[in-house]
This record gives sequence, structure tokens and C-alpha cells, in this order.
Amino acid sequence: MDSLQSPRGTRDILPEDQQYWNFIRQAVAKKATYFGFDRIDLPMFENVKTFTRSIGSGTDIVEKELYEVKRFSEKQSSLESKNNFALRPEGTAGVVRAYIQNGMQYWTQPIKLWYLGSMFRYDRPQKGRYREFQSMGAELIGDESPASDAQIILLAWEVFVELGLDNNLIVDINTIGDDNCRPKIRKALVSYYENNYQDLCQDCLNRLKSNPLRLLDCKNESCNKIKKNAPQTFDLVDENCKKNFKEVLEYLDELNIPYDLNPSLVRGLDYYTRTTFEFRQKEDTERQSALGGGGRYDGLVELLGGQPTPAVGFGLGLDRMVELLKKSRISLPNENISQVCLISLGERAKLIAVSLIQEITRAGFKVTFAPQKDSLKAQLRFANKVNSAFALIIGQKEALDNTIIVKNLDDSSQEIISRNKLISYFNKKLSRVN
Ligand code: AMP
Repeated sequence: MDSLQSPRGTRDILPEDQQYWNFIRQAVAKKATYFGFDRIDLPMFENVKTFTRSIGSGTDIVEKELYEVKRFSEKQSSLESKNNFALRPEGTAGVVRAYIQNGMQYWTQPIKLWYLGSMFRYDRPQKGRYREFQSMGAELIGDESPASDAQIILLAWEVFVELGLDNNLIVDINTIGDDNCRPKIRKALVSYYENNYQDLCQDCLNRLKSNPLRLLDCKNESCNKIKKNAPQTFDLVDENCKKNFKEVLEYLDELNIPYDLNPSLVRGLDYYTRTTFEFRQKEDTERQSALGGGGRYDGLVELLGGQPTPAVGFGLGLDRMVELLKKSRISLPNENISQVCLISLGERAKLIAVSLIQEITRAGFKVTFAPQKDSLKAQLRFANKVNSAFALIIGQKEALDNTIIVKNLDDSSQEIISRNKLISYFNKKLSRVN
């Protein structure tokens, strides 16, 4: 029989890597909390319209990368059907859906939420690109001032600082204007790209009709050459958007956050307005492996059925952050909590050992046990292999007189203590699990 494999583009995160993930999850939770963001957990799948209406039906994410969720017995489906579901490809659309559904517009604004979890996209798997990846995001909904854009960028930046990943990092930033400026931007792009249409890839030929702004997002080589002389959105946006953008940059200057003005940063999702930004390693000039990104999305709440509400947010890619942490050889906080290993000889001793598991773990210490192994030698070997600090040996004699042999596995010293003194003994000798 064939052995089953995880689906292409997904992976198991094994125990040896958990320290990196924990480090990142803790940093993210800490910084989001310090910045006054509350955690929200959202369903992993949503009505497909949550994504088609927000991310945009002409985008790669919706057109090519969305995973449908359906029962095996269901037959037909389409992006347009009413009750179709899709695995979430990103977090913002779901947060905005939740904002509207839970009446958050009536709460004190702005609403500040953060999330963490799996996202799913049918991408071509390669290093740093998976079909299931982990993302952390923060959304600030209900405030339109550039100071909120700055606060959002700062929160992401501080996560990188906390992780020691900021040294080689830069923020790419751009403004893509709002509804007011879009017709002018579209017109300028269409007219420029129509003059170069013979060198465009098929995707860009389609974008020329459906979503000209996204022409700037193409990574194809021949399109890249054309992009270099394309009209720049900053020159085309109205005075208001320009003023806002300059203010955002002033905040970044004040905060000493390094940035690059990148006129082709439009991002692959339709809901963005005004500020767009991405975090990348300085040498990754082609933005092949951004660590995160985001922007303002002032039209999205209304687009999904709520009141007109300004908002700004970001999403970070945790898988890429883990890879960078490993590459940078940053030393992680030591997670090696010392543990004790129970060793029992005989049935009565085994009974005591199991009840000691309850007692020791309730007191906050880490414990391990290999009850299948009978001999003292085999159990001691196991205790050493799993790096236990102490072995607690309960033989027949100890079982009868309620004592335990405590063997220090570092220096092989041992002493006999009575069972009811065990926890106060550990209190002096061992660190607790937090
Ligand atoms: P996006 O919503 O496309 O801006 O994605 C936000 C961040 O998630 C990106 O900057 C990446 O760090 C990460 N990301 C996006 N797609 C993938 C993927 N297929 N695999 C791993 N990380 C991803």
C-alpha cells in the first residue's frame, strides 16, 4: 500500500522547529497587546463572496489560488453561487466581515484587532512559498489619519525588532490613491501600456482590460522592462492623497524606520487605497520573498456591506520569518525546561509513578515516563536520552516505605527522600514550566 503524504505545498512543523515558531508567536502576541490590539480568531473558511468582493475577482488570489470547500456529495459550484465556501487566502477580508457582522461599527472606534493562523493559496510551491502558510495580521478599523498608517507600520516593525530581524530590513512604500484618483491613474496606465502591448505577457494583456493598476505588479521579465518607464501613481494621485502620503513618510522618518519609495508597489489585492507597503530584505530588490505587507483599505467595509469606514492593516508571513531566523542564527530564548523522569520497578511502583505524574505536573514541573520499559538500565538510558535532569526511581522497597530515590543525572549523585517532601525538594532544585 502507498504510504500517505501531506499534500504538495503543505508541511509538518516538527518539534525541533517549534522553538522558532513559539519565539515568533510570543513576540507577535506581546507587541500586538502592547499596541492595544485585541486578538480575534476567525473561521478558516468563509463564503466565497467575502473574498471575491474584497480581494477582487480579477486578481490571481481569487482567479487562480482560491481553494473551494465543499462536501464530497455536492456537485456543482462556481465563484458566483450563493452558498460556496473557500479556504481563507488572507486575513483582512474575514476581519472586515466579522467587524460588520458583530456590529463593531457601534463600538468605540477605532477597532484594533490582530489574528494569527493558517492561510491557503494554490501557489507554486518553492522555498518560502507554500499552499498552507501561517500569517499574523493586525487591522486598525475606523480611523483615517496618516498617524494610523504609521502606527500599523510601526507595530509590524517592532515585531521584527523584537525578533532581531530588523537589521537588514526595509519598507517598500507607495500610494495608489483612492476612488477619486483611480480613473486618472487607470487612463494613464492604459494609454502607456497600450503603446507597449506587443511585449506584454498574456496576464498583463488581460489586466490591461480588467485591472490596469495590477500591470505594475507583474514580475515577468519583459513586462518589468516596460514597467520601468510607466507613469508613477504618486504623480497621478490628487493633492489630498499626496498630502496624506507625505505625512506617513514624515512619521516614518521620525520613527527611524528605513523605507524605499517604490512606485510599482500596488499589491496583489484590489481593496487597497492610498498607502501600500511591504517589508523585505534589502537585497531582495525584486520583492520575491516579502516578509509581509499591507496598506490602507478605506473602501472595504462598505464593499462588504457596512458603513463607509476607513481602515489600515498588515499581514506578515511567519514561515518566511522562521526561515530568516534560522538563517540569521539568532539565539533563541532557552526553552529547555528541565524535566524529571519516573522510573518504576514492579506493578506497585508503576501505580505510584502514575500518581506522581499527577502530583508533579500539578506543581508545575515537567515529567516524562516510559512505562513499557521494565529494567532499571533501560529506563535510565531513556531518562538520559531525553535529557532529564533527575530520575525518580521507585523500586519495591521504596514503594513499600513511601520513599523515592532521586538521582541527579548530571553528576550521578543520589539521595533518598520521602514522597511527601518531593515537591518542596523540586521547588528548590528545578525551574517551573510557565
Ligand atoms: P499578502 O497578503 O499576499 O501580502 O501576503 C502577506 C505575507 O504573507 C507575504 O508578505 C508573505 O510573507 C506571506 N505569504 C504570502 N503568500 C505566501 C505563501 N504562498 N507561502 C508563504 N508565505 C506567503
